[in-house]
Amino acid sequence: MSHLMNTYARLPVAFTHGKGAWLTAEDGQQYLDALAGIAVNGLGHAHPKLTAALAEQLGRLVHTSNIYRIREQEALADRICALTGLDEVFFANSGSEANEGALKLVRLYGHRHGNPEAQTIVMEHAWHGRTLATLAATGSEKARKGFEPLPSGFIRVPYNDLAAIEKVAADDRRVQAVWLEALQGEGGIRIADADYLRALRRLCDEKGWLLMVDEVQCGIGRTGRWFGYEWAGIRPDVITLAKGLGSGVPIGAVVAGGPASGTFGPGNHGTTFGGGPLACRAGLETLRIIEEENLLASAAAMGRRIRDGFAAALQGVRGVVAIRGEGLMIGIELDRPCGDLVRQALASRLLINVTQDRVIRLLPPLVIDAGEADEIVARLAPLVRAFVGAPEQRAA
Ligand SMILES: *Cc1c(COP(=O)(O)O)cnc(C)c1O
Repeated sequence: MSHLMNTYARLPVAFTHGKGAWLTAEDGQQYLDALAGIAVNGLGHAHPKLTAALAEQLGRLVHTSNIYRIREQEALADRICALTGLDEVFFANSGSEANEGALKLVRLYGHRHGNPEAQTIVMEHAWHGRTLATLAATGSEKARKGFEPLPSGFIRVPYNDLAAIEKVAADDRRVQAVWLEALQGEGGIRIADADYLRALRRLCDEKGWLLMVDEVQCGIGRTGRWFGYEWAGIRPDVITLAKGLGSGVPIGAVVAGGPASGTFGPGNHGTTFGGGPLACRAGLETLRIIEEENLLASAAAMGRRIRDGFAAALQGVRGVVAIRGEGLMIGIELDRPCGDLVRQALASRLLINVTQDRVIRLLPPLVIDAGEADEIVARLAPLVRAFVGAPEQRAA
């Protein structure tokens, strides 16, 4: 019997090493990775430049604590602020932890601005994490069930529904922030309309609310831009980052600008591990390599190629409701629960995920090439066709 707490229904495979978009299992079999450790391994596995940089850092300095200056942390904050146009960064160790920091920031901001009951508007189907406050903000009843009492301070509205927020704005004077993902990941690869995001930006400006965007999954190049909100041409007041930022070395970040900057002072927030030299070096190298290897353009192109590939391979197939996404954040929604496809794909040596019961989720590494992109379609499309009972597609 395993001594691990039973928190995951794990697939029966363990990997020993990887290279790029490929993972090798204990039995020597190679798997094509279309999940990238859930949007973490943007550079793929064992990227040589990252490996060399981390090895150098490991041999020099791993941890000193935030009692001292940390040059790698300062450099990464500079880089993130240059990319976002925001002003300051707090480093944490995960997405949930970054989001907790952002929520604390909203509350402190509210207290400072005569709104001690500061409420945050959050979205249906949102995913913000599994700590108590981020769980309270998360839109999954399944994830929340059994963990009450949860922290209060949240007002939930439907995603992409401006009227719902305007109604809250008219009725509730305690609102201090609107919080959403630019593209919902766990929520089923749903995309916020650009008009909706722009209208939210205007509403937040008008009301003195903070616009906060959780970029933990859709940030760091995944959608073909550095950040998912860029597709709408807006600048949020607060964003949170994690998954892809450290290429697998744990790191999270709260990034604040405009009215949100300067909220935290000494004693308001902190962390022992957060922003350590190793994690920040991983972040710095990740951003540098994405730029050097032109991975934003590549993610956009490969994502289009994969979506077009599925659109052709699944054309007219009843049971396929939608193929959607931006860049390498791709969802294929079926008309029925399809969790079984994960095991079927595994048997075809392809790593995928299913979210919201009915949405196949693909989050390949940003480094995949055209051949690998085509291979994802070639391995998965026949499984989907068979799953929904469509005839096999004849070779053209
Ligand atoms: C994964 C995720 C989180 C939680 O991150 P953890 O590192 O698992 O705590 C938060 N928000 C979004 C959008 C995510 O996808």
